[in-house]
Amino acid sequence: MKRTLSVLTLIMIALTTTFCKEEIKKEANPLLTKIDTPYGVPAFDLIEPKHYEPAFHYAMALHNEEIAAITDNQDKPTFNNTILELDHSGSLLAEISDIFGMMCAAMNNEEMQEVQEKVMPLLTAHYDAISMNDKLFKRIKAVYDSRRELNLNEEQTRLVKKMYDNAVRQGALLDEANKRRLKVINEELSLLSVKFDNNLLAETNDFKLELKLSECKELPKAVRDAAKVEKDEEKYIFTLHKPSLIPFLTYSKNRELREQIYKAYLNRCSNDNDYNNSAIIKDIVRLRIEKVKLLGYNTYADYVISDQMAQSPKAVYNLLEDIFKQANKKAKEELAEMNTLFKRDYPDEKDKFASWDWWYYAEKVRKQKYHLDEEMTSPYFSLDNVRQGAFILANRLYGLTFRPIVVPLYHNEASVYEVLDADETHLGVLYFDFHPRESKSPGAWCGYFRRPSYDRTGKRITPVVSIVCNFTRPSGNTPALLSIDEVTTLFHEFGHALHFLFSDVPYNGLLDVEGDFVELPSQIMENWALEKELLKNYAIHHRNNSIISDNIIERIHNSAQFNQGFMTTELLAAALVDLDIHSFSKYEDFDISKFKKEALYKKRGMIAEIEPRYHLPYFAHIFAGGYSSGYYFYTWAEVLDKDAFAAFKETGDTFDRNTAKAFRKLLSSGGKKDGMTLYREFRGGEPSRIPLLKARGLWTEPEPTPEPSPEGTEE
Ligand SMILES: [Zn+2]
Repeated sequence: MKRTLSVLTLIMIALTTTFCKEEIKKEANPLLTKIDTPYGVPAFDLIEPKHYEPAFHYAMALHNEEIAAITDNQDKPTFNNTILELDHSGSLLAEISDIFGMMCAAMNNEEMQEVQEKVMPLLTAHYDAISMNDKLFKRIKAVYDSRRELNLNEEQTRLVKKMYDNAVRQGALLDEANKRRLKVINEELSLLSVKFDNNLLAETNDFKLELKLSECKELPKAVRDAAKVEKDEEKYIFTLHKPSLIPFLTYSKNRELREQIYKAYLNRCSNDNDYNNSAIIKDIVRLRIEKVKLLGYNTYADYVISDQMAQSPKAVYNLLEDIFKQANKKAKEELAEMNTLFKRDYPDEKDKFASWDWWYYAEKVRKQKYHLDEEMTSPYFSLDNVRQGAFILANRLYGLTFRPIVVPLYHNEASVYEVLDADETHLGVLYFDFHPRESKSPGAWCGYFRRPSYDRTGKRITPVVSIVCNFTRPSGNTPALLSIDEVTTLFHEFGHALHFLFSDVPYNGLLDVEGDFVELPSQIMENWALEKELLKNYAIHHRNNSIISDNIIERIHNSAQFNQGFMTTELLAAALVDLDIHSFSKYEDFDISKFKKEALYKKRGMIAEIEPRYHLPYFAHIFAGGYSSGYYFYTWAEVLDKDAFAAFKETGDTFDRNTAKAFRKLLSSGGKKDGMTLYREFRGGEPSRIPLLKARGLWTEPEPTPEPSPEGTEE
């Protein structure tokens, strides 16, 4: 097979080419030389795609030298000479990887893709060689076995345990033959992920729906303007990127066109062309099963979730199935409401409501029932104002301020701020990159160019964080006006940024929090985005400077639970398919589309008019991102974020500074202890599922019974 061949070729290159650290021209490479930039941000004005590959080789060689210094040490293994040294090793490589990872997502092109396809398998092999290095593992194990006698503090003990557990999870206990096999599997998996992603980007960019004004004149002007081809006044182009697709599905009267674009979206990477991801998915699923079997787990989901707050797939199914049932029921009611309107338009018996009708009729119901439409709200949500709103919130809760600064940029649309703490000390740097372009992956995310850490002398290295989105772009002299969905997205990503900025753990190895913790800091921010008090601070009309009225705020709040049956169902459908496909205990060939149908429509009775948020061939979260068996992370974290927000509300002040102080402690300590322990310390008890169900309008008061029923989640 072509794919396997190319993996082998790459491994051959890795084995036959010895890159000597000295041979790499360090001086000419801005990734390897210390360049004086404000706040030490990456020298984006100098970095080019050609610099990454040699920089990676240099940093890997350096990392290998650092590891060799640990394993060659003749002294008895101690926390300092082994664990601490290992914790500091590879920092240059991590630095380059952080920049490279962010740039692959935000500034992708053929050159970057080539580097990615070359480098990813090498990196996988590099880290595998370290985690399966016998001499190193013996030293880690020696410290681990004697950890109780070493007088370590709580964080040091956690670091030792984490390093030991990670090495075991990555195959340190396997025999030589199995180690070799695991390395090959990991390299193949990493290359398959890159190909999956690149196919998706190509297929998403490939489709364009070209219309004349007469074919889209019913669309709101802002939507039409965003789709307008500048040179050609009469031409409008709609794409499969969500900021283009969703408004089209919401407003286009033309049912055939809605069907055409939605089907193109759904069928991405399952068409009969070079970008078909079916074989890649099957290879990934098969290799993941083989991998975890080697490591002693029954399923891939067991392997992933055992390391999360949820701890077992059973606990996750328990949560998802329960909410899914209620959401599907609510979605049926929503459908019935829309169907009345649909039948007015299509009275013929043969015409049935379909998945591509959902947005259009939902919008009609929204207008009719809540007297709210986007054209009413978006003038109050100019991008600058919404960003200001996030800044105001961070100031009210935590006393932070944001100061625009001039630093090197990787794209002229990016903007950058210095973040100052309440006492005006420097907390970090924050980049924003808001608008879509072909080189950018779809969606929105937040990551860092430089992670928060401490150097060997104990000096704090502050983070350089970046928020990347695909928001509606400004057009003519109208600024970018955001939908409510985009407003909450900005607050969401801003929450991730705050988490990185606050993060304060003494060791690099404790920086990562559990996957199902990750979305707590971000999702909680969405709760504030539409709070009346905050809206009055930032939702200001971009033309006449009027503050959003109580009346519109009331309509926004009244409609908050609208369509939640649909939203929850499509979200959980994707999470359930993810969990199902990673719950095979042995691999058998399967039909990808049939698998989804069985799992959702047959087994769980999902209504036919809803498609899961992601079909497997374009479900990049689970095949090319860090969310395999982890799409549930969002829902798990939502239980926590709604419960944590309730803690603010319970004080009678949504912006309560004391609760904010405790929440900041939870964020800054993330990784120091396990997530559930930290959460209990913040909340003084277990999180409850009820605030989530209430927020989504899925809560029904239980019938009073003689025995009081237990509340909330038990896991
Ligand atoms: Zn997020």
